[in-house]
Amino acid sequence: MDANSDFLSNEVVVVGSCMVDFVTYTQRLPSPGETIHGTEFVTNFGGKGANQCIAASKLGVNATLIARVGGDSWGEKYIRNLIKHGVDTSFVLKTNGEMTGIAQICVSANGENQIVIVSGANKTLNTLDIEEAAECIKTAKVLILQLETSVDVAVSALKMCSGISILNGAPYTSEYDPALLTLPTIFCVNEHEASQFAKLPVTNKMEAEKAASHLISMGCKGVLITLGADGAVYAEKRTGNIFYVESPKVESVDSTGAGDAFIGALAYLLVRRTELPMEEMVEAACIVAADSVTRKGTQPSFPDEQILEKLGI
Ligand code: ADP
Repeated sequence: MDANSDFLSNEVVVVGSCMVDFVTYTQRLPSPGETIHGTEFVTNFGGKGANQCIAASKLGVNATLIARVGGDSWGEKYIRNLIKHGVDTSFVLKTNGEMTGIAQICVSANGENQIVIVSGANKTLNTLDIEEAAECIKTAKVLILQLETSVDVAVSALKMCSGISILNGAPYTSEYDPALLTLPTIFCVNEHEASQFAKLPVTNKMEAEKAASHLISMGCKGVLITLGADGAVYAEKRTGNIFYVESPKVESVDSTGAGDAFIGALAYLLVRRTELPMEEMVEAACIVAADSVTRKGTQPSFPDEQILEKLGI
């Protein structure tokens, strides 16, 4: 067995965050200094990195996560959750003395929310961790990154990647070297992030197409802008191709994590359905993401491989 053979089965490798979401439901959001009664409390596993990895894994692809959880009991529970979803956790490290990242979320009856995030162990994921996982990253068919962990980490992993890479520019940060946008094969953002990165309004399909073209002129090789219920726009530098895809109309129950379901599905398709043209892949990713919106929660709402049979892909 040579040094690389352990990693030959790496189809999707995700570098990113693990967060535990503490969600309270209230009639209305509290004002500063106010204490109010909530109606319900739930704890969910989240974080864009883990979400996207689990979304891909649930569709049946081999998925590995490179991440850091805390040395607390949530770290242990999070690793068990990843294993339960079939994720390879060889590179999920524990940072002793740090807490597992958390998001404290308050959702009011009219759907408004307030979110406070404490990155905890996620901010300790560093470029040495990326060096340690170098063989895994280099042999990945699809590498996925987001910006919930440090930009340096994203840059060093992107530079190592020889396969297809997807950078989800979320959350937006102004603290990035413009070269960051030139590294991934696909830069994927929702309409808000697209507007922030392109410094253009993005409120409809036409504006999304303009923003996608602008992001291409800023150095992106490929740009995907997701537009919630309205679908997605894709633009590609090499071919000059730009297209819009509709999302199926569904009854929306909970759209949290829709973007993560979309990216997980796209990664699955880029690995397992290489024969499909990009337009069909984006269409299928929209269908998978729309399906996730019909169920409550984030990771539990991601569909499994049965949806692929239904779709005939
Ligand atoms: P994010 O969760 O990152 O904000 P979006 O809200 O843009 O991402 O959603 C990602 C994808 O999920 C969309 O491109 C679309 O395919 C699907 N989607 C999201 N919300 C809906 C909805 N209400 N109805 C149908 N599809 C949806």
